Amino acid sequence: MFDKILIANRGEIALRILRAAKELGIATVAVHSTADANAMHVRLADESVCIGPPPARDSYLNIPALIAACEITHADAVHPGYGFLSENARFAEVLASHGITFIGPKPEHIRVMGDKIEAKRTARRLGIPCVPGSDGGIADEDEAKRVAAEIGYPVLIKAAAGGGGRGMKVARSDDDLQHALDTAKAEAMSAFGDDAVYIEKYLDRPRHIEIQVLGDGNGDAIHLGERDCSLQRRHQKVWEEGPSPALNAAERRRIGEVVARAMQELNYAGAGTVEFLYEDGEFYFIEMNTRIQVEHPVTEMITGLDLVNEQIRVAAGSPISLSQSDVVIEGHAIECRINAEHPASFRPSPGQITYFHPPGGLGIRVDSAVYQGYTIPPFYDSLVGKLIVHGRTRNECLMRLRRSLDEFVVDGIDTTLPLFRRLVRNPDIQNGQYDIHWLETFLKTGGIENG
Ligand code: ADP
Repeated sequence: MFDKILIANRGEIALRILRAAKELGIATVAVHSTADANAMHVRLADESVCIGPPPARDSYLNIPALIAACEITHADAVHPGYGFLSENARFAEVLASHGITFIGPKPEHIRVMGDKIEAKRTARRLGIPCVPGSDGGIADEDEAKRVAAEIGYPVLIKAAAGGGGRGMKVARSDDDLQHALDTAKAEAMSAFGDDAVYIEKYLDRPRHIEIQVLGDGNGDAIHLGERDCSLQRRHQKVWEEGPSPALNAAERRRIGEVVARAMQELNYAGAGTVEFLYEDGEFYFIEMNTRIQVEHPVTEMITGLDLVNEQIRVAAGSPISLSQSDVVIEGHAIECRINAEHPASFRPSPGQITYFHPPGGLGIRVDSAVYQGYTIPPFYDSLVGKLIVHGRTRNECLMRLRRSLDEFVVDGIDTTLPLFRRLVRNPDIQNGQYDIHWLETFLKTGGIENG
């Protein structure tokens, strides 16, 4: 097992990793930018190293500074969390060349899944069902037209290097195609420095359903059920729950088995998520994330498993702590991502938290790195914390979520708490009847005022 883990991240996920390491008896090193000198992950770690000024490219993305921090502190492993360098194959390779373990998948798997065109090819080869579309990148409008004629409109132009919902444009006819192609390419270039794009059938009312997997890198891999992340704004997840209100036990088993078998064949190591769109009883692969995800606590609440603990153990060469037949899904869990944003305009609201009172009681988990008096810096994402609620049934979970949202107090900044208080009372949400467009429609039709 490792002696010391350096956590190459900040915020709630840095704290989450720190907790898992401490429970395994492993020493921790926090890294931070000058803007994060007073952050909770710095206070709670055994050691800390300042790695640069506030902009992420100079600190949390600064590979030489991170390697130096490992060498100064004699850390023998690095956990990258999510975002930042978590899906950077080169970072994993540079660490390996310094004799430091990257707590995550093999670099070749990060690389394959990081390129969405390659990822889809790999998924197809492994027998995972995919959204119909182009086999590879699209060179020009003529090729785009040919593919669109084959699969039928509407189509979606997507960036090969995509992430965070950027570089994605819908075209509903030949007339839209050139414009969609140009804007998707331009957006992809400015966001990722790579303008490669591909085409997919645009599904009109799917749900986003993703399968959590764990592999040991030696051919063993299991699945831990699904999360439904259909409630999205600008292709970004807002509310996640598991099990999905839309799946039955047979569908769950079928897709879980397909994914687990594929991960076994790949010799996948660590935690990963295979994402699908689900419409009319069919699953369509869209991408795989080769890291721990923001919404991983949903799975932890319904399986009782500590996913970060599993990541660390597998990276140290231990087997996964349980086999597929030991996995039992119990009850229901919902996660709300509470952001420092205005609940209607979504304008970011950094600043000082003057009062902070998280909810408590049975079945409640709050993953957050803020505290009363803490000032949210303007440089990073706007997540204040995640409220995760568990109940024996979906109904119990919803009632518990409702009362815990009413208990939650964050003063001094705007947060999206009022949005969740409306959502939990909405009949469509209560009935589990929503697709990936539901939230945008709700917001457009004045949902926040009208319920
Ligand atoms: P990113 O990596 O940018 O998050 P994804 O491929 O994971 O991109 O897609 C993000 C979201 O965009 C999905 O959850 C879904 O809401 C929407 N989306 C992606 N592909 C399609 C598609 N073919 N049809 C309809 N919606 C899609």
